[in-house]
Amino acid sequence: MEVLSLRALRDNIAAGRTTSVEAVRMVLERIGRIDTMVGAYISVFEEQALARAAEIDGRIAAGLPVGALAGAPVAVKDNMCTAFGATTCASRILKNFQAPYDATVVGRLSAADAVIVGKTNMDEFAMGSSTENSGLRRTVNPWDTGRVPGGSSGGSAAAVAAGLCAAALGSDTGGSIRQPAAFCGVVGLKPTYGRVSRYGLVAYGSSLDQIGPLTRTVEDAALLMNVIAGHDPSDSTSVCESMAPVSDYLADLDRPVEGLRIGVVSSLNAGADPAVVKALDEALAVYRPLGAELIEVELPHFDYAIAAYYVIATAEASSNLARYDGVHYGHRSKQAEDYVAVYSKSRAEALGQEVKRRIMLGTYALSSGYYDAYYLKALKVRNLIRTDLVSAFERCDCIIMPVAPTTAFNIGEKTDDPLQMYLSDIYTISANLAGIPGISIPCGFDGRGMPIGMQILSPAFSEDRLLRIARMYERQTQWHQRRPDMG
Ligand code: GLN
Repeated sequence: MEVLSLRALRDNIAAGRTTSVEAVRMVLERIGRIDTMVGAYISVFEEQALARAAEIDGRIAAGLPVGALAGAPVAVKDNMCTAFGATTCASRILKNFQAPYDATVVGRLSAADAVIVGKTNMDEFAMGSSTENSGLRRTVNPWDTGRVPGGSSGGSAAAVAAGLCAAALGSDTGGSIRQPAAFCGVVGLKPTYGRVSRYGLVAYGSSLDQIGPLTRTVEDAALLMNVIAGHDPSDSTSVCESMAPVSDYLADLDRPVEGLRIGVVSSLNAGADPAVVKALDEALAVYRPLGAELIEVELPHFDYAIAAYYVIATAEASSNLARYDGVHYGHRSKQAEDYVAVYSKSRAEALGQEVKRRIMLGTYALSSGYYDAYYLKALKVRNLIRTDLVSAFERCDCIIMPVAPTTAFNIGEKTDDPLQMYLSDIYTISANLAGIPGISIPCGFDGRGMPIGMQILSPAFSEDRLLRIARMYERQTQWHQRRPDMG
């Protein structure tokens, strides 16, 4: 059976052309056959998924109403709490952690009758750009198993690319939805901060984290946004709909944006691979005949984004991760002889190297004497970056730039050099610092057959237009239809 888009699959199930059980079985069969190689999943809920699918099919057969996802199989990154199965964040410290409740997005997926087939692999606590920091397993890129899938939502991106689910959720603190989407040739949307509830998302950098869809098409991203976006009283940072109404993201999706003004920042392309720059130029050329005007804009503080991000994100992480102490959650050291040792030994034994590095960096940046020099300074830079973007958007509707300087790199290529790994986030982190939405869509392949992504950024709470702009391109091109050959 062909791997369909989420939209096509749910239409087929709802119309009785196939069933949810059949769709879930197919995905489970593929997982059984392919995922030993890809490594996209940390856990798979076979029995539970089939039971849920049968229940949804029963409702359809009885002519009862079903939700917008009509029994389609969906995967969730393993940093979102589910009341069933484990929620590990790919960390040994949470290896057996059972959350007592569903994250709001998980509840919303279930209410829309998605079947959650499993939880996907990630960099430990979402810290990384390649999924190589997972404490539990390795995920490879379905296009070339010698390369990384990107990160930190590498499991979700690989699962979508390899047809191991119809769509997935990821989280994006500094690019973790968009970059793996680009590396795996799928669509990834980071919504505006506050658009999607973070309740039940294990916090990394709370002022930056945002949940969003990883899908095969722009239409599927719109469909998932219809399900997950909206105010949540359980998340005080989720934005009230009276302040920023949630659109029906599918309603106008195929209506092109008239008089579209695309901002380009030529100076930024210097650091990217020639293949990435070429694909981007060609993508811009697709927009021109559609009536788009290209406008050169400047982002003067762009170069400081990485430095600011890695101070702010690690500062927030050092505070958020203090709760993993061997007392409240997960792994507890057997070697500890007193309670201080419970903290230190449990953390020393079960947290990975990158997580420890960031806790130390963040604690340092927040310590008295250094707070003003690092954390406060980084917040000021963050504000300048936000202001740059706001003034750029006075002259254009969106900004188009690369997602990452390169396509998917080799496994192990950057693991010994964390700074090199951090630098690969250059194009994605500004959107998180500014809180604005960004989407990554497939726009070509490099000479080695690896997918290239194009990033489109737009003003806060303009996801409806952002999706329409992405859709304008998708309708003219076939890149999103290519699939890796996985049998
Ligand atoms: N690569 C970035 C980091 O390591 C972003 C991660 C993310 O978005 N979760 O922090």
